[in-house]
Amino acid sequence: MTGGVVSSLGKGLASAALAALLQARGYSVRLCKMDPYLNVDPGTMSPFQHGEVFVTDDGAETDLDLGHYERFTGVPARQSDNVTTGRIYTDVLARERKGEYLGATIQVVPHITNEIQDFIRAKDGSADFVLVEIGGTVGDIESLPFLEAIRQFGNEVGRERALFAHMTLIPYIPAAGELKTKPTQHSVKELMSYGIRPRVLLCRADREISEEERNKIALFCNIDNSSVIPALDVKSIYEVPLTYHAAGLDNEVMKHFNLPVEPGPDLSTWEEIVHRVKEPEHKVKVAIVGKYISLTDSYKSLNEALIHGGIANNAKVELKFIEAEAFEKDDEDLAAHLRDCHAILVPGAFGSRGAEGKIKAVQYAREHKIPYFGICFGMQMAVIEAARHQCGITGANSTEFGPCEVPLIGLMTEWIADDGSVHQRTEETDLGGTMRLGAYPAKLVEGSRVAEIYGATDIEDRHRHRYEVNIAYKEQLEEAGLIFSGLSPDGKLPEIVERQDHPWFVGVQFHPELKSKPFDPHPLFISFIEAAVKQSGLV
Ligand code: GLN
Repeated sequence: MTGGVVSSLGKGLASAALAALLQARGYSVRLCKMDPYLNVDPGTMSPFQHGEVFVTDDGAETDLDLGHYERFTGVPARQSDNVTTGRIYTDVLARERKGEYLGATIQVVPHITNEIQDFIRAKDGSADFVLVEIGGTVGDIESLPFLEAIRQFGNEVGRERALFAHMTLIPYIPAAGELKTKPTQHSVKELMSYGIRPRVLLCRADREISEEERNKIALFCNIDNSSVIPALDVKSIYEVPLTYHAAGLDNEVMKHFNLPVEPGPDLSTWEEIVHRVKEPEHKVKVAIVGKYISLTDSYKSLNEALIHGGIANNAKVELKFIEAEAFEKDDEDLAAHLRDCHAILVPGAFGSRGAEGKIKAVQYAREHKIPYFGICFGMQMAVIEAARHQCGITGANSTEFGPCEVPLIGLMTEWIADDGSVHQRTEETDLGGTMRLGAYPAKLVEGSRVAEIYGATDIEDRHRHRYEVNIAYKEQLEEAGLIFSGLSPDGKLPEIVERQDHPWFVGVQFHPELKSKPFDPHPLFISFIEAAVKQSGLV
């Protein structure tokens, strides 16, 4: 799957939707993404730059498109499903240093292109279909080695085992009152100049593309009429599999691989999801008090998980993004922002900006008995809030923001050891590699709210954080009503806090949003939205 004309066309979503259609036809799928940038992984990029960093079970920090893949197929993404130019070069150069190329001159072709092909080939046999998305736009300098690699790959495996799909934009020009096909023609021409002839064209447009226009695209792009698939804007991303099927996408794929077109896919699950999204019985408003709110892609999985919670409760979930810093100046402002919300959520974050505002949001939720969900950073802020305002530990803070009087949230090395000594991290300690990443198990307290929500006491969810809540304050905080209802199996790391004196108040150190799917919403999000629905009947 390549893309042309402009970026942000939704290739990731298209790949995920096609995979879902293949699954609905009974085939197994695997999705992967190649990113043409030089970062070794997106872990160090600001969410403003590249949207959310998606974390896999095996602890990789990957592109957010892998989140779409997982949400649409239920197949857990793996470290080996995402690769960047930076990773490819790092591996090739490491081998060169070891002397593994035996005196050869290392070149983009064949060494880099072979490495890219190996990435694809490594998936051979793992599924009936492997879908490979190439990030960026055809014509970018960065994409070249990837296009050359897939051209070679297509030749090697043969046309009957490889299909090239290309996604483009058909813009509408209001002055002319027409959809314009020229950019698509140019994009395909560019792709052809690399030796890649698309078998399927996915044409994004904001309105119907007439048959005449489709035939024109086919003629100029040298493909069959039936290979031009309109990819029209839809209200909910979960409609995409249905609209692509209606437009004939999976039929074309079946024809290409000489597989039976009939019987068609079983789309009942997707139909049910779309029905629930489009015709909800309830409506709730959830406040998201964060710091990356100007780019909602920063919270991609979170937004979707909240919608999934809505699907489970037949509720439309309206998200109100609020910049936490706004609360730091003025309490009036805080109440004005939160008054019409049925639930408050503080999501994951890094750094001190907005932290005090988030602590105020927690306090508001606790005191006004509004459902509160703290995720990672949001749990840490909930713990600080309780310590400061309920336990009288006024100096409580996170060492993420600098040295503080009471390090309630700190690096692992700051734990109070059994002998009572406080361990401090030194200046020399490496910053990189100290994150806790990927799936970790937790033990839930029998009879707790979360044990009831999960329907289990042994759970596993995905982490991405450097700091931990200091277990030494457990007793004091529990006396104030903040219960440590989930701990790491060794009992040292607090994983979940909750309140029993409140309609719904849960903080989790992990990111449950990463595992939620529209057809299998995460239990915490089901329960949180259920609480919001209840709250909406109150206010
Ligand atoms: N910055 C915090 C930490 O590193 C929280 C991270 C997060 O919310 N994902 O622990």
